[in-house]
Amino acid sequence: MDFSLTDEERAIRDTARQFITREVMPLEQEALLRERRHQPGLELSELRELQQKAKKFGFWGLSTPEEYGGMNLPAVLQSLIWTEVGRTYIQFKFGGEADNILYYANEDQKREFLIPTIEGERISCFAITEPGAGSDAANIKLSATKDGDDWVLNGEKTFITNGNDADFVIVVAVTDREKGVRGGGTTAFLVDREMGWRSEFIQTMGEGGPAALVFDNVRVPARNILGEIGQGFELGMKWIGKGRYLIPSNALGIAERALGMAIEYANTRETFGRKIGENQAIQWMIADSEVEIEAARWLILRAAWTVDQGWDPRHASSMAKLYGAKMVNEVVDRVMQIHGGMGYTRELPIERWYRQVRLMRIYEGTDEMQRLIISRDLLRGYTKIGGHLA
Ligand SMILES: Cc1cc2nc3c(=O)[nH]c(=O)nc-3n(C[C@H](O)[C@H](O)[C@H](O)COP(=O)(O)OP(=O)(O)OC[C@H]3O[C@@H](n4cnc5c(N)ncnc54)[C@H](O)[C@@H]3O)c2cc1C
Repeated sequence: MDFSLTDEERAIRDTARQFITREVMPLEQEALLRERRHQPGLELSELRELQQKAKKFGFWGLSTPEEYGGMNLPAVLQSLIWTEVGRTYIQFKFGGEADNILYYANEDQKREFLIPTIEGERISCFAITEPGAGSDAANIKLSATKDGDDWVLNGEKTFITNGNDADFVIVVAVTDREKGVRGGGTTAFLVDREMGWRSEFIQTMGEGGPAALVFDNVRVPARNILGEIGQGFELGMKWIGKGRYLIPSNALGIAERALGMAIEYANTRETFGRKIGENQAIQWMIADSEVEIEAARWLILRAAWTVDQGWDPRHASSMAKLYGAKMVNEVVDRVMQIHGGMGYTRELPIERWYRQVRLMRIYEGTDEMQRLIISRDLLRGYTKIGGHLA
């Protein structure tokens, strides 16, 4: 069994690390100051500039097919790069990307939505969650009613990432109540902001914030249907599926950097005439964190590898998301404890991580939903204990 990276994987991972270290991390102190003044840590124009710099380093469109100018990287490499991005608390991501389900667009829609999103000229958001339907996404109510050649959308979505900045939304609506959400009764629409939906900022414990989106008789032409009529829920689940190995990949980077800080602090901070790292209490926190990070790494890489094999990755991805989100919360909590009062201040990024990583246990499927998927697969015999090695 070979647990090592190939030369190519290592080279790409190391170049990503270099970029994050040299170009992004130096902006961190300023970003923290801005966030304390309730401003974005990084302005959109600054993000775009960094993304263009990264493009010169060779990083553009990690998951984007080559025909659209992207790298079309295997999932394992994407995971490794997302871990590198996680090391910085600047809200950076490499450019040249679009939502995976935008590739279901027809040629006209690709010109209008997909390509400008890849180029960074337009900002998208994806909306399935509603005030009455989160984990139970099959309970969505936002309706789309046919009227001549148009569809008229009414209802509300909530907690939509980028909802305040987006130029357009990919929204899942109920088009046939009789068929039901799982029976082909939903459809995804591409809806420009100018068509009339509005967004309302939602304050959260994290930086930035998602939005509630209100659709009040929003008229959408039939040509803006994404994919097929009846395919909405299926597309929604595909969108969510992608994040299930990338979110924990990002968590891994956060946990590794945070633990590195804790080790440095344990080796320098003195109490009672000796380094705090000489106490077993501190050593155990460091040891437990290292073990959990390592366990998460292999669950995440296996999930990504499962994607690359072309196998159904849902079970492996749910395990990676569940464990990765739990791991990063545990690690950041211990790192704060090791830093004592300093960990609680806003001079260090630890309190920021503490707030940020809590979300990972909630969005794109809560811990409980991941457990539900994992146990259901086993109880119904879809998956064997031990996965592909069983
Ligand atoms: C910052 C942020 C960004 C987000 N971004 C997006 C986005 O871009 N697009 C989008 O569509 N959505 C987005 N979401 C929504 C997110 O996916 C939902 O919040 C999440 O799925 C949980 O749904 P809910 O909040 O309605 O909680 P609920 O579904 O009401 O769950 C409440 C609690 O009950 C538990 N629970 C529910 N059902 C069961 C059950 N059967 N068994 C055991 N426990 C159960 C849950 O695990 C949870 O602990 C975002 C949310 C946040 C907070």
